[in-house]
Amino acid sequence: MTKPSPISPTIPLDQDGIHHGFLKLPYSRDDSAWGAVMIPITVVRNGDGPTALLTGGNHGDEYEGLVSLFKLAGALSPSEITGRVIILPAMNYPAFRNASRTSPIDAGNMNRSYPGKPDGTVTQKIADYVLRHLVPEADIVLDIHSGGKTLDFIPFAAAHVLPDKEQEARCVAAMKAFGAPYAMMMLELDAVGMFDTVVEEAGKTFVTTELGGGGSTTAERVAIADRGVRNLLIHAGILTGELEAAPEDTTMLDMPDDRCFVASETSGLYEPCVDLGEMVKQGELIARIYDVERTGTPPREYFAPRDGIVSCRHFPGLIKTGDCLIVIAEVL
Ligand SMILES: [Zn+2]
Repeated sequence: MTKPSPISPTIPLDQDGIHHGFLKLPYSRDDSAWGAVMIPITVVRNGDGPTALLTGGNHGDEYEGLVSLFKLAGALSPSEITGRVIILPAMNYPAFRNASRTSPIDAGNMNRSYPGKPDGTVTQKIADYVLRHLVPEADIVLDIHSGGKTLDFIPFAAAHVLPDKEQEARCVAAMKAFGAPYAMMMLELDAVGMFDTVVEEAGKTFVTTELGGGGSTTAERVAIADRGVRNLLIHAGILTGELEAAPEDTTMLDMPDDRCFVASETSGLYEPCVDLGEMVKQGELIARIYDVERTGTPPREYFAPRDGIVSCRHFPGLIKTGDCLIVIAEVL
């Protein structure tokens, strides 16, 4: 028998109109006896129809989705939709408030905490609630990521290769509708515990993104998120209107194998020799890492392991052994 979740919503999830409230998670601690973690949530509903679950802040320092969904929660009106939109802008709310990828309470990486536990850590309790109480309500799920403080990405929406080809086709169609400048068929290095994996196992249409990073955002990247969210709601039949295409047509990318990922084998000062979005050839110089303790030592040089586009780079200027240095994707 699975235990009930300790989390309770302060608003109805199934009533017409717009409701702003919280997922309330009791969390008694030194600075707040009988306190709670209050995770903001907005539910907009207008009659029967499909449900979209829109999540940001799965990692707390990925600002494109956070900004776009906080904005949407204040802008969307029930009269313009059919069905329901559940907006959870900051899924790992303690991490968001700490401006960090993982939770300051339990060091929980939300996207490695699924399926979660109702009697686990704070992060596991949130994961358990989202999976057992929000995901089953949804026909389509969008989880907006970016690179956070330690990576920067070209903006792409993504879908995964799935065993159920009908489901994969639904996810790919939704990914294309999102209308990011790039669209990626993702290879996950480490899929266990991911929100993506459990949502896909539940048979849902799922789209994820990487829309930038660097621990902040830009007007251009927020505009991509805003347009993508709107397009996804149109695609799902919740909003009416025409899909708005990316200014340049979406470029399809693939990460077919682990040769796409270059990890740093040195710690030091990172000199990018190519920039995001550039095309590189196998063997081309992509980065130098300098010894930070002395001058005059030759830098360690890194070369492209394959042809492709620089889709991700380390951020910011210092790097450690084992950090993701660069990702080179294949242009289809
Ligand atoms: Zn993320």
